Amino acid sequence: MTAISFLGLGAIGAPMARHFTAPAFELTVWNRTRARADAFARGTPARVAATPADAARGAAFVITCLPTSREVEALLDGPDGLLAGLARGTTLIDCTSGDPATSRRIAARLAEHGVDFMDAPVSGGVSGAEQGTLTVMCGGDAEVFARIRPVIDAFGEKLVHCGPVGAGHALKSVNNALLAVHVWSTAEGLAALARAGVSPAVALEVINASSGRSNTSQNLFPERVLTRAFPRTFRLALLDKDVGIAAQVAREGRVPSPLLQLTSELFGIAHRALGEEADHVEAVRLIEQWAGVELG
Ligand code: NDP
Repeated sequence: MTAISFLGLGAIGAPMARHFTAPAFELTVWNRTRARADAFARGTPARVAATPADAARGAAFVITCLPTSREVEALLDGPDGLLAGLARGTTLIDCTSGDPATSRRIAARLAEHGVDFMDAPVSGGVSGAEQGTLTVMCGGDAEVFARIRPVIDAFGEKLVHCGPVGAGHALKSVNNALLAVHVWSTAEGLAALARAGVSPAVALEVINASSGRSNTSQNLFPERVLTRAFPRTFRLALLDKDVGIAAQVAREGRVPSPLLQLTSELFGIAHRALGEEADHVEAVRLIEQWAGVELG
């Protein structure tokens, strides 16, 4: 049995962690709000750890899935921190959609303690996590990637080694920036068409059989906007963070990136207007409000 510790049982962390309740693994979980970990573990063989240090003790692989790299870095220190429990030879797999610079700092600190690090953010949403079909983008040494493969295979389907530490996070941020561009541009386009007398349903029927289609137009809008369901699966606050990382990666690389910078600004506005709990697709509500139309 492989000893796995999973820290961060949020919207996507919990369904990812659930795959490690299978007999091949010995699972320990930790969550900042203990009640969430207790609820997760009920009826499963998982052990609930009292602290990150307690969770790290005895684990071969520690997996983190927190909002940003800032929270992962903050978990390292102090008497209850991860570093107090991590043994040499352990591997920390960070599934947070984090930022490359902080990950390089975390990796350097862990290396001082003989602990390997790999950034391994995921794509595929809550349903992909439940079905174990996530895409996992990995940054770190090839040898570490080979070692973590059987672990991330529990929740992933497409497992890709993208480059050195930070490469997974950079790629994830750009992927999500593209999602943000699609959500925003599809909403603007449909609002303009609604004003021109074309219903959103007809517009999507045509776009989805034409060259402007995307996952956003084929799945998100029909299932979430037209129906007015707007389920809360991935917080707008987190997408705002991801686009901000992509914009930062572009600036650091001195890549002219007006579209990424503008998208980051727009999602910052939407995040502030709609609050911490809004789903990412609810950014559409802001465009509807500005345009005075409803895309339902
Ligand atoms: P949630 O907001 O649902 O959960 C966040 C988790 O982090 C909770 O377990 C929360 O604990 C914990 N947490 C928050 N702040 C701290 C802190 N300061 N110290 C310790 N733990 C903390 O986020 P998601 O699960 O949706 O997302 C997690 C990561 O996965 C993010 O980076 C996100 O961008 C990424 N992601 C999410 C997807 C999705 O569809 N939801 C898809 C792909 C990637 P508590 O219970 O105490 O609040």
